[in-house]
Parts: sequence; structure tokens; C-alpha cells
Amino acid sequence: MYDYFKQYPHDVVFYEKWIKDRLPQSFVDAHAHFNLPEHVSNVSAEAIAGDWALESGLLMSIEDSDTYLQTLFPDQSVFRICLPWPLRDADTVANNQYIANLIQEHDVRGLFTVRPEYSRDSIEEAFVAGHFSGFKPYPYMASATKGADVSIFDFMTHEQFKLANELKTAILLHLPRRGRLPDPDNIAEIHLILDRYPDIKLVVAHFGRSFCIEHFEKGLEKLGSDVQGLYFDTAAVLNPRVYDMAFNKLDHRRILFGTDFPIMLWHGKREWSDGQYHNLVREEFSWNRHPYPDQEKDYTFYVYEQIKTILDLLGSDEQSKQAIFKENALNVYDQR
Ligand SMILES: [Zn+2]
Repeated sequence: MYDYFKQYPHDVVFYEKWIKDRLPQSFVDAHAHFNLPEHVSNVSAEAIAGDWALESGLLMSIEDSDTYLQTLFPDQSVFRICLPWPLRDADTVANNQYIANLIQEHDVRGLFTVRPEYSRDSIEEAFVAGHFSGFKPYPYMASATKGADVSIFDFMTHEQFKLANELKTAILLHLPRRGRLPDPDNIAEIHLILDRYPDIKLVVAHFGRSFCIEHFEKGLEKLGSDVQGLYFDTAAVLNPRVYDMAFNKLDHRRILFGTDFPIMLWHGKREWSDGQYHNLVREEFSWNRHPYPDQEKDYTFYVYEQIKTILDLLGSDEQSKQAIFKENALNVYDQR
């Protein structure tokens, strides 16, 4: 467990006031990463120090997750879709096997990380034997640079997409490229995937890395009618303007709630300007620039802020709440 993970009295007050009775009693976290220390022992200290997300959290066993969830959501039961850590220097074979073990031994579902060099046969065998519910490819497998200008097919090949299509399974896609969702090459490749592999349930992670409204607005516009063929997850997204647009423009059956634990276990929130987000955090990470030092001790858990934002916008729409917080993820990542 991360030492920095602490619950303060004001967190309990926030939970009881804004979340406890409004969040469904049972819900699904459709985006959290699970591993053991030995799976990421080759990830260098420089790589971790160079990426705020990895510094925030790179390790989470199922037991750690139990403790985090019992602390954060004492009145809810949380069903988990377990993702491996799709990093280049991770031991992907062992991490996938860990997820397969969790599927077998716990009441969870899991996704399988592919590497572009994996053969179709080896993927199919491990995927079927492990009862996985989808794939989790990641741009890191083609380039170690965050937001690198690589093609989706550089980190998940057409042969692998073809297999996913035959399996009629889900792919949780973290988009590459600096331009994020509206990048013309991302838009073209999404179109190609929907066109060529129609039986894949394509979930675009983090609303297409649209942490800022500018990317989401432009992205939806450029996707046009393709948007109706996609699912989106909410992992790590806090921006109320993004959620407002999502709830207004997307079919609520296509939005899946996710946290991105163990990255988002800290206290804080975000502000946004000119298409960029800035993390405001209480904990002493190296990336904490302390822009508002007097306010830091009052920050509650980021995930509480995220859930409150969603609940405020959905209001009394219980049907949408059930869809977004539970049913959609169970339908998309189906039991195998
Ligand atoms: Zn993630």
C-alpha cells in the first residue's frame, strides 16, 4: 500500500455529504491497474520520476485495492475490471498471468495486454485460457514517450485487431499522439477500426485523453456519426465541462465509469487553461508545484471530486447512474 494514502476527517465528511447516498450501492470500476512489485521491477527510477502518473501510483495488488476501496467507499461494494500495467519495461507475461489468476480466484473480470510482437496464436491461447473480457493495448509498447506520434497499429497490429474481432471482444484503447482525440490520424484510425472490425467493442479511455474541453469538443465534432459506435471511459477525467458535454451528446449506455487507480489515489483536483490541465495536489510528489499552499490541506480525494462531478450533473437520473456506474461496464467487458 502507498504510505501517502491517508483518510482525513474532512474526507469522511465529504463522502457522507456528497457520495454515500447518491452513488449506487454497488458499482463497477472499469479502469484500474493491478500488479505485483516483481512485474515492474525493471521500470527505471528515471521513468517513474519523469511521469507524474507513475510517481503517483505504479503498484496495486488486489489486497491493496480491497483496502483502498473499503476506506474510500465503506457503504458500497465495488466490482472491478482489472487491467495490467501496460508498460514497455513491465513483465507483461507475468502481469497478464496475475490478472488471469485474479479472474479465477476473485469475483473480478480482467483485460489482457498485448504487445505488437505477440503472435495471434499465443494471444488467443492465453486470452481464452484466462477467461479475459477484453484487450488493453497501450502506446508505450510502441514508444516510451507519453503522447508519442505513433499509429494505433504500431502497438496493436491489424492481425491482433482481426483476432479481437473474431472473438467479438472489447478493446480499451488509450489513444496515442499529441493531438489526442481530435488528431486527424486518430480520427481516421478509429474510423478504420469501426469499419473493418465491426464486432469489436471499442472503448476509448479517458474520453480520448480529453481532460480538457477543447479536445473533447473538437474530437466529437470530427468523429461525426462514428461516435455512435464507440464507448468511452471516464478514468482520471475530472473536468465538469467534459462531463456535461458527454452527458448531453453521448448515449448514456456508452459511458463507463473508471478511476485509473492506483494513479488517482491522492487528494486534490485540477484546473484547466488553454487546452492544458494542471494537477493540484496535497501530497508531496516531486510534481507538486504548490500553487495554492494554503488550500492543500482542505483537498479531498481526487476520486471523490470526480464522482461528485458526475453525480451533480446526472442529478436524479437513476437510470443513467445505473448505466454509467454499473451496467455498461458489465455489458462491454462480458464474462467469458
Ligand atoms: Zn489507466
